[in-house]
Amino acid sequence: HRGRTPLIAGNWKMNLDHLQAVAFVQKLHWALKDAKHEDGTVEVAVFPPFTDIRTVQTLIDADKIPFSLGGQDLSAQDSGAYTGEISGAFLKKLDCGYVIIGHSERRQYHAESDEVVASKVQAALRHDLAPVICVGETLEQREESGPTAVSVAQLRTAVEGVPAGADIVVAYEPVWAIGTGEVASPGQAQEVCAALRAVIAEKMGEDAAARTRVLYGGSVKSANIASFMREPDVDGALVGGASLLVDEFAAIIRFQK
Ligand code: PEP
Repeated sequence: HRGRTPLIAGNWKMNLDHLQAVAFVQKLHWALKDAKHEDGTVEVAVFPPFTDIRTVQTLIDADKIPFSLGGQDLSAQDSGAYTGEISGAFLKKLDCGYVIIGHSERRQYHAESDEVVASKVQAALRHDLAPVICVGETLEQREESGPTAVSVAQLRTAVEGVPAGADIVVAYEPVWAIGTGEVASPGQAQEVCAALRAVIAEKMGEDAAARTRVLYGGSVKSANIASFMREPDVDGALVGGASLLVDEFAAIIRFQK
């Protein structure tokens, strides 16, 4: 367990092929010389497309680049006749420590239900990967049931049966703030992140709640990261668009509390 060390996670989505990935990671590492991630004050994680992971792993290993690595999804199954799927075992073999589960784009375009998300969380834990469990409401849902209800319900299902000692990360990503440039206010993020921490306490116990990182995601930029990190229940950020811009992502990583 890394405790509540701030985590800045870059979700590349379907961007950067493996050659572009090498150039990107080298430039980012260079831009972060003397940054706090070198001494473990901030943890940086990148989530490349599957076809990039082997190449990125080789690079960060060879150049001793202190980035954590993760997949953007995984199969709920471990192996077998599941054409096109990627097992958690494969990700673990490539030194991935994390895997994003239940991103709103998977829920929306691949019809991933809360139950599918829960089975993928179990698959991640079977392979010793920390699931980055994404939850969040659409604008319509926020208007209908308020800011916390949808995320709380999604997380309750996702962590059902997860043992108290499991290493998980939760990411609150309001759907209306993803890739839209529309950002939640720090107070809005804090409200939901606190409610999500309470779900961890309810399902996994107070100790788990105290050491589990809850991230905010949705149009995070260097200009707004500090305001989120000042909130007591926000332990980092899941960054999409801005994680593809070397200088911008480096500036996010260098945030000042
Ligand atoms: C995301 O997709 O996880 C995300 C937060 O995207 P963006 O930063 O582009 O809003």
